Amino acid sequence: MPGEPQDDCLFCKIVAGQIPATIVRESETTVAFRDINPQAPTHVLVIPKAHYENAAALAAAEPQLAADVLQATQAVAEQEKLESYRTVFNTGSGAGQTVWHAHAHVIGGRGLQWPPG
Ligand code: C5P
Repeated sequence: MPGEPQDDCLFCKIVAGQIPATIVRESETTVAFRDINPQAPTHVLVIPKAHYENAAALAAAEPQLAADVLQATQAVAEQEKLESYRTVFNTGSGAGQTVWHAHAHVIGGRGLQWPPG
């Protein structure tokens, strides 16, 4: 069922507390935790607690939950005192998606190049 936890999903396990993560923010519908392989001084992932395989599936199925995730990225940036930052949703393997549970990267704390690689 869309939105239901998946046994083989790493991020569902983080939501369930079965895999450790450094959680920096949690709401009723979202969790934010530090990326284990940070690409910048601040690199936080914001995920919906419900399982959707990517941002497109999330936005199509639950627009309010997609908005919750976006709002949480802003809250994390404020909490981390980031004046400039980048919010990235990698969607599909060609774009670098490796974990199939929707997540927003919040990246900041250093200068960022455009376009990204
Ligand atoms: O967008 P993409 O799917 O590549 O991002 C997945 C991210 O999840 C990676 O940046 C990776 O470092 C992170 N990760 C994590 N904790 C894990 C496994 C992966 O923070 N246990």
